[in-house]
Amino acid sequence: MRTFPIFVSFDGKPPLVTGGGELAAVKTRLLLKRATSVDVAADEIVPELAKLAEQGLVSLVPARPGIDQLRGRPLVIAATEDDAEDTRVSAIARALGVPVNVPDRPELCTFALPAIVDRGEVTVAIGTSAAAPVLAQRLRAWLERELHPRLDALAKLAGEFRGTVAERVPSGPPRRKFWEAVFEGAAAEAMLEGDETKARDLIGAAMNEAASAAPAKGCVLLVGGGPGDPELLTMKAIRALKSADVILYDRLIGDGVLDHARREAELIPVGKAKGAHSVPQEAINALLVARAQAGQTVVRLKGGDPFIFGRGGEELDALRDAGIAVEIIPGVTAGIAAAASLQIPLTHRDVSHTVTFLSGHEAGGEEPSFEHLDLAALAGGRNTLLVYMGVSTAGQIAKKLLDAGFAPTLPVLAVENASRDDERRVATNIAELAAAPARLGLKSPAVLIFGEVAALPTHGLVEDILALEELKRA
Ligand code: SAH
Repeated sequence: MRTFPIFVSFDGKPPLVTGGGELAAVKTRLLLKRATSVDVAADEIVPELAKLAEQGLVSLVPARPGIDQLRGRPLVIAATEDDAEDTRVSAIARALGVPVNVPDRPELCTFALPAIVDRGEVTVAIGTSAAAPVLAQRLRAWLERELHPRLDALAKLAGEFRGTVAERVPSGPPRRKFWEAVFEGAAAEAMLEGDETKARDLIGAAMNEAASAAPAKGCVLLVGGGPGDPELLTMKAIRALKSADVILYDRLIGDGVLDHARREAELIPVGKAKGAHSVPQEAINALLVARAQAGQTVVRLKGGDPFIFGRGGEELDALRDAGIAVEIIPGVTAGIAAAASLQIPLTHRDVSHTVTFLSGHEAGGEEPSFEHLDLAALAGGRNTLLVYMGVSTAGQIAKKLLDAGFAPTLPVLAVENASRDDERRVATNIAELAAAPARLGLKSPAVLIFGEVAALPTHGLVEDILALEELKRA
């Protein structure tokens, strides 16, 4: 059963439990955590249910309820433990569109009961689509320990202020930011520590300030989204994603990264697949400026680091020209992630003293001329070349390096999809790469590492080693 979590209102008709045994009693007790009363359809009931009936929490209705008794219920739990009867109740409920649960009979259910962490106003419901109830219980135990026992009081206090805040603090980002500050700041801390007076004063003061504040100024955060693995995001990047009203993201951004965005955030793909249709850079710049001028917190989320071949510099210029506040949040660039994955240092005493970041394409998608580079000087060794966007030009690059005097045996490592599940690593040398680049079977995105460091032991981390002998045989 594939399920979607929601919270059901018990403000109308009471929920119905069929059956009067222990199982029905357990389910009734659960519903009474929120329902003011539960209807129980049974002829005979166990003492616990009788007691609840005495207390006015349970109303007994005749066993074997029909269409009229089921219609309009917020939900029904069929717990007679009589297969035929539970099946009958489930069939009627489903025909009426009333949500129904039959314990341990998923095929008869239209909803599942979650494991619940109950902090009064704050409820956490945990579901595993019936796949792993024990896991749900363990998560519950963990949350019970982690969630502050006074969370309920904090939520109630916020509830009290909610109406006044809605009247006085403008909706949208200002109000959201007001509440974020309350829950992350001293007010929440005071409340959780039991100092309600202090908490009230702090919230009141923050509200006065927010109510009289000038309209929020927009800003743009140029955020490095890292090479793909969401665990390689910085904490600042995660915080930026959570604060964003709108996120403009590149094609190479992984789903796990965007998961950190607020649910309400607007997500705009502006991906640049090489050669494929994409939003032109001028349009991206204009969009960033327009959204920030409208007062939004804009995140420009770029693969790797925003300033390594990411055209982050052009976006920064456009934003500065428009007088917009900008913050840069660096990210783990693909080449560094690739080296980490291979467990080779890009600089290494005795082996390489410098690293050069190179693009395998000129601006405009042309093949590289490397005119601006003194390749002959780099050919002297003790240097590592890190080539981005070089998949389709890898052969030409290798030839240019050979022409410039690089040793034909200089090792080369290529890493495709660094840090992602489908990462692939290939080893070769410049001569082989120049002779038969297709042999590497490289697909974008990949980085190429040229240099003696590429010959350092990788402890079996390279799957494909294309050796000269092998090439000759092929
Ligand atoms: N700003 C990015 C680079 C953008 S240019 C960064 O700092 O990583 C795009 C190029 O980055 C791709 O052509 C490829 O060479 C490289 N790249 C991006 N993600 C990669 C990944 N997960 N694995 C290998 N290379 C990657």
